[in-house]
Amino acid sequence: MKCKVPSCSKEKRYLNGYCQKHYDQVKRHGKVLKRTIYTPNKFEIIKDICIIYHYDKNCKLKGKSYVDKKFYIKVMKYKWCIDSLGYVNNSKVGRMHKFLFSSPIGEEIDHKNRNKLDNRLLNLRIVSRGQNTINRGNISSNTSGFKGVSWNKRERKWKVYTTKNNKQISLGCFDDYMEAVNHYKKEIVKIHGKYAKFNLKIRRIKCD
Ligand SMILES: [Zn+2]
Repeated sequence: MKCKVPSCSKEKRYLNGYCQKHYDQVKRHGKVLKRTIYTPNKFEIIKDICIIYHYDKNCKLKGKSYVDKKFYIKVMKYKWCIDSLGYVNNSKVGRMHKFLFSSPIGEEIDHKNRNKLDNRLLNLRIVSRGQNTINRGNISSNTSGFKGVSWNKRERKWKVYTTKNNKQISLGCFDDYMEAVNHYKKEIVKIHGKYAKFNLKIRRIKCD
């Protein structure tokens, strides 16, 4: 005989028509719970994005997180929670962004838009530990902190430039800050040769 809870697939009844799990639930909570901490997340796929729904122990929606659709098969095998620091976490495999993308030693994976629930590829990048702390906020400055790279508010892009013989030379525009920095480093050597100079440390990243 099946458990009398319609959504339950347990074949064996334990007591009062319930399987053991549901019998214990009714005994403890006075009712059959819709969700428990063991109930898998709800997943929804919209276009290229897989949305993961996180519920608290009272079945209330706690938050939604996002991952690329192509990782659905990989992530749906686990139960994901939002941990105390706001990351998407599973007790066995750890934080989702690290589970999906391993970073080289000494480097970290950073959420570009600072939303830890957004683990889509386009929102993640590999940065050194120092750079990652830079992107954690609290710093108010409009400069990029990197010589030759500045944020253009109107175009909403990182502009790369250098000066030679008192003339400014534009080296291009980028959406991604690290791409702009790397482009600058590459181009500057071509233009200035052995006189090329660039900051070794990037101090500030801020755009609005
Ligand atoms: Zn049951």
